[in-house]
Amino acid sequence: MIPFNKPYLHGRELVYIAQAVATGKISGDGYFTSKCHSFFEARYHFKKVLMTTSCTDALEMAAILLDLQQDDEVIAPSYTFVSTVNAFALRGAKVIFADSYNDHPHIDPAQIEKLITSKTKAIVVVHYAGVACDMDAIMRIANKYNIPVIEDAAQAIDGYYKGKPLGSIGTFGTFSFHETKNIISGEGGLLVINDEKYICRAEIIREKGTNRSSFFRGEVAKYGWVDIGSSFLPSDIIAAYLYAQLENIDVIQSRRKAIWQRYYESLSDSLVGAEISVPKVADYSTNNAHMFYLVCKNLEQRTALIQYLKDNGVHAVFHYQSLHASEFYQNKYSGHDLPNSDHFTDTLVRLPLFYELQDEQVDHICDLITNYVSSENVHS
Ligand SMILES: *Cc1c(COP(=O)(O)O)cnc(C)c1O
Repeated sequence: MIPFNKPYLHGRELVYIAQAVATGKISGDGYFTSKCHSFFEARYHFKKVLMTTSCTDALEMAAILLDLQQDDEVIAPSYTFVSTVNAFALRGAKVIFADSYNDHPHIDPAQIEKLITSKTKAIVVVHYAGVACDMDAIMRIANKYNIPVIEDAAQAIDGYYKGKPLGSIGTFGTFSFHETKNIISGEGGLLVINDEKYICRAEIIREKGTNRSSFFRGEVAKYGWVDIGSSFLPSDIIAAYLYAQLENIDVIQSRRKAIWQRYYESLSDSLVGAEISVPKVADYSTNNAHMFYLVCKNLEQRTALIQYLKDNGVHAVFHYQSLHASEFYQNKYSGHDLPNSDHFTDTLVRLPLFYELQDEQVDHICDLITNYVSSENVHS
């Protein structure tokens, strides 16, 4: 079976973990956490970064930093992972879902503006598949109404919008290093803070509501409880693993891009007749090769294709289920139908993509898909 994903060990992960353990300081904000912070600040010129235990935690920190309360409204896509909105629901905020474009899973900026009210306190956008949302359009709306933007860049490491690193454009950016992402540490995340005014409080929230970070910098004589917070910082063992991956980011990214391109070249023409489409990447965005997906013509076709691949030893998977229709939120959701989000719920299928996937395996998967499409023609 060709798996959907396979975490990749570049080589120095265990060396760095051993080194972290040997120093005797394996709690948060140790040597490797600081190496990772410097890496992100140097490579992407982010104003301030804080490693977290997950992207979910980084989103929760953003929700706390924005002081979201009961009845505040947050606009977000419905076609996304639960954490994108759960972080805000946890504060009691109401999620106002906006639809995707009809030809792309991204949130459609034209849908956002219609949903803004005096209660709107944040707009969350997701750079799906590591491809940028239309950030100029989104920031134009956000600036017009003075609403902070959170970029859920969980999948978007090393992605750019018109030359700007994803995660650096909104008020906050959040990244994930979960083992299913491009750069991994098992679980892990990063909060990027682009507005200076949130930096000091972010450090406090991340350290259980204490001013421990200022204390260690010698800025205060003792530290204590100054705000709400939680334990959002990862162990230095996690950072040690991550640092080994970051050192190899160019190697990892170039292999992923080669795999993505191979799929793309092989499938773009052959699937037109079957009404199956390949991913679109707008001119304003780079492609970080997080994901290669196809959009089928309907649910039946997708189910049959996934089954056909499975029968032939390939694990392909569908993706998000519209959150406005979820068990948890359907009774709370009072907005419009979101047909495009529902369409991707039913039709999108993701193909295996991981560092060690071989060219021959990619070719084999493409052949299977082409065979499937021609057998479909025979039967119809
Ligand atoms: C993976 C992912 C998350 C969650 O990341 P964790 O690090 O597992 O918390 C959030 N949003 C999106 C869009 C994701 O793909």
